[in-house]
Amino acid sequence: MRDRDVSIQDAPDAAPDEMTTRSELRREAVFVGLTLVGMVTGLATGWLDGPPVLMWAGYGVAYVFGGWYGLKGAIQTLRHRAVDIDLLMIVAALGALSIGAPFEGAMLLFLFSLSNTLQHYAIGRSRRAIKSLVEMRPDEAKVLRDGEEVTVPIDEVAVGDVFVVRPGDKLPLDGVVRSGEGTVDQASLTGESVPVPKAAGDEVFGGTINESGSLEIEVTRQAHESAINHLIHMVERAQSEKAPTQRLIDRLEQPYVLGVFGLTIAAIAIPIALGNEFTGTFYRAMTLMVAASPCAVIISTPAAVLSAIASGGRQGVLFKGGEHVETAARIDAVAFDKTGTLTQGDTQLTDVFVRDGTVDDTLSEEGLLSIAAAVQARSEHHLARATVRAAADRALDVADAERFQSVAGKGVKADVEGQTTHIGNRSYFATVLGDAAIDGLEPGLDRLETLEAEGKTSVLVARERHGEVSVLGWLAFTDTVRPDAAEMIDELRSLGVEHIVMLTGDNERVAQRIADEVGIDEVQAELLPEEKVATIEALVERHENVAMVGDGVNDAPALATATLGIAMGGAGTDVALDTADVVLMGDDLSKIPYVLGLGRKTRRTLTINLAIAFGAIALMVSTILLRGIPLPLAVIGHEGSTVLVSLNGLRLLGYRG
Ligand code: ADP
Ligand code: MG
Repeated sequence: MRDRDVSIQDAPDAAPDEMTTRSELRREAVFVGLTLVGMVTGLATGWLDGPPVLMWAGYGVAYVFGGWYGLKGAIQTLRHRAVDIDLLMIVAALGALSIGAPFEGAMLLFLFSLSNTLQHYAIGRSRRAIKSLVEMRPDEAKVLRDGEEVTVPIDEVAVGDVFVVRPGDKLPLDGVVRSGEGTVDQASLTGESVPVPKAAGDEVFGGTINESGSLEIEVTRQAHESAINHLIHMVERAQSEKAPTQRLIDRLEQPYVLGVFGLTIAAIAIPIALGNEFTGTFYRAMTLMVAASPCAVIISTPAAVLSAIASGGRQGVLFKGGEHVETAARIDAVAFDKTGTLTQGDTQLTDVFVRDGTVDDTLSEEGLLSIAAAVQARSEHHLARATVRAAADRALDVADAERFQSVAGKGVKADVEGQTTHIGNRSYFATVLGDAAIDGLEPGLDRLETLEAEGKTSVLVARERHGEVSVLGWLAFTDTVRPDAAEMIDELRSLGVEHIVMLTGDNERVAQRIADEVGIDEVQAELLPEEKVATIEALVERHENVAMVGDGVNDAPALATATLGIAMGGAGTDVALDTADVVLMGDDLSKIPYVLGLGRKTRRTLTINLAIAFGAIALMVSTILLRGIPLPLAVIGHEGSTVLVSLNGLRLLGYRG
């Protein structure tokens, strides 16, 4: 079962416990430095035949500071009746000391604490990468109070207050533009590099930059509820959720560490039993123990996955957990919702037709539009909004409608001026009004077909009188295909996606036209919302790993059914944040190949990291068993591979697609 009810409200305010704070990190670094100084003092004094007290004091400092965190960690784990790598390292260092190799032990502790500090730095960096976003937001707003601009800390600004931004200003809070016009650079939130034009009524977000024009903005969310704060919380939460590879490694740590202890004991016991001398045998066993320790294996996954999540966050792509980064790598089929995803969702009414010979022979096009707008004023559908907008643009009088009802995926009806008015597609008139006699249906359906062949989504408008329904006319709409849709589909194919599908409630002909235009393989049209879910299920059956891309508002069930649900335009809606696995804060289609590309790149990085980690272990262990290597070399090989996988993982922070 996948955990889907992650809500924003209970997102943790603080970062997860494991996160090393800056001051802790500084202390760790100081300890590493002291370990180095102690180790060098011990070594130099020994070489120069200096006073033994000084030599032992040096090594003492190295052991105490180098072993401090390791010992703390080992004891904590032992309390839970478990063993970990920390214990392995401490035992190995003490073992080296006990056979008169204090330098080797000190060096082990030095490199072990150094690589731990580097790991903490790497993980902290990938966690903090996203935090820098909120730091970019000003902490004061210029609020209008009684017509005067007053500078107020953002925590004291209330919903409904109005603040002012000038060109070049960063927006302190989320809101709606009340007056003014300008362009806003939303890259910090959505990763979209092209500035977005904003005018009265448009939604704007804190942390974005006003480029041109002065805007007066009414606050819609308090500072702590802002979209950018949500993004940061969600990224932090995602980073604390483990990816499957990491869960596997976590499960294996304990038996592996026990195995290394067993191997070490065997490496001592067997040669001794065979009559070998103790010191040499013990030294070799300690070398073996260090070489076989899985530090690099353990850091290999989080270093990569956390960096990938942070990198996404900075591009306005929110992975809801490490698991989804790994899933993104496997996707081989992608399903797109049409309206608002492949198209811009700015549906426009293009044509109004009155049927010849309609019951009401005085009905004008404007009259028809005004009746339709009366019904549609009650609907949230994009066709409805386009109808209402068209009526408003023509300054038509629109009556009040009563007893509104909608039939999902088919149409709507309501009483306007005492008469039941129906607006819907073919299926509405066939199934909903199945038995009623419908006057003018034939010519109406013919016209729908012609309009649809032109790529226009069309509906019939009809009125009911004494149980008889009569078609008044029809309305046609278009929606602009996003200009970058075709390019995005190409990119998906070059990433290895085999099958691309479009799902829509719209008509087959209209859908097919758009599919041909952007290069989609399969069209599933005239789907009811529940049929979208069934279609996704069938796709998952066939392709196993299917991503669904939608706007998250009416596609929520399909997003939840897909292997990977990707919601677009998440900055404005909480619904998308809740139901999808990956949320694109903006509306930029190019982020979909980015998601799959980042997943694939992360998987490659994981493979390389695991190969380095296990490769180093296998190489060293076999060399030790065959001919032996000095302990310092094993230490360097062991810690070197650990640092290498950390750095390799961090490279994902710079992934741009
Ligand atoms: P989509 O989001 O792909 O447009 P929907 O399921 O929302 O899919 O709608 C499918 C079809 O149902 C529309 O193309 C239209 O024909 C009809 N329909 C749905 N709602 C309405 C409405 N309010 N007015 C007119 N037709 C509607
Ligand atoms: Mg839709």
